[in-house]
Amino acid sequence: MDKKEFYKFFKKIPKAEIHLHSEGIISKETAGKMLSRKHPEFKNSENIENLFSYNNLKEFIKAFLLIQKSFEELSDFKALFNNISTYLKRNGIVYTELFFSPSLFVKNGWKFENMMDVFLKKIKKIKRKEKIEIKIIIDVSRTFGVDNAMKNLDALLKYKNKNIIGIGLGGDELKGPAKDFAKIFTKAKDAGVHRVAHAGEDDGPQSVWDAINLLYSERIGHGISSIQDESLIEYLSKEQIPLEICPTSNIFTKKYVQKIEDHPIKEFYKKGVLVTVNTDDPTFFNINLIDEYWNLYTKLGFDLSDLKQIIINGFKSSFLSKVKKERYIKKVNCMWKKYLPKNNTE
Ligand SMILES: [Zn+2]
Repeated sequence: MDKKEFYKFFKKIPKAEIHLHSEGIISKETAGKMLSRKHPEFKNSENIENLFSYNNLKEFIKAFLLIQKSFEELSDFKALFNNISTYLKRNGIVYTELFFSPSLFVKNGWKFENMMDVFLKKIKKIKRKEKIEIKIIIDVSRTFGVDNAMKNLDALLKYKNKNIIGIGLGGDELKGPAKDFAKIFTKAKDAGVHRVAHAGEDDGPQSVWDAINLLYSERIGHGISSIQDESLIEYLSKEQIPLEICPTSNIFTKKYVQKIEDHPIKEFYKKGVLVTVNTDDPTFFNINLIDEYWNLYTKLGFDLSDLKQIIINGFKSSFLSKVKKERYIKKVNCMWKKYLPKNNTE
């Protein structure tokens, strides 16, 4: 299948994206407008381009925090959600579990509930207008310490809304080991809040074990260093603990993978691990979800039926109810049959 045909076809197949940071979907145009209010140098598009290029996870986090700092009023979140809606539509994504990291905002005086009010209004609107479902996972963050993470969980528990479904542990993996956050994740588990954690992105396989055993993480964000530990691969496969793999993000941060052809996703897939494909931060990594599928198809030896399975894995790994998962998967199969070019020979 050629590139044009592939993109046209994949746009029509309903997809889920389950590892996606809301701030990472801001368009360069919106980022430029917001940043240049305080930093006029960002009126220059070259400086915006430079902001979105980095060599490691630390530099990336620095850029991410600068974007967060550029939010000045609640209407900025509305602009962000307009960008999110555009991104989801462009990629044929019908369901997403979206991270939001409130720590820096709250530190700067924003009220958690005020931000969530705007989010939920926009989520409702997008669902009505575009038929796209968005759920929120609060990233409690390794970077801002344990007390702050607990405050984030408490804010979530107090706010209570069916569209805010879980907590995640993101931020600097090397500085914030899982064991420090165990009591927060135990409390979340007891309260029936879903749990995910970035692990094995910037640290070795032990970090993945810790996310599973100490944080009760139901999915692993990235998890690519698991490839170094055969018993971990076996465990992930046996327990069907999903990996939220973000191939291009891993190449940008350059910790375990230097080029797409060397990404371990195919090996995980072959060994029966429940792998999903995601973009992490589309604007920061200059990537769309369909681009990731195209890369898998052209550079990593996945055929079309593998890609269909990975699309199905996205729904399977989500926190949707069993009934809803089945409904979406049925739709994938149906659209696949309907739109797969008749003359396709792979
Ligand atoms: Zn992430």
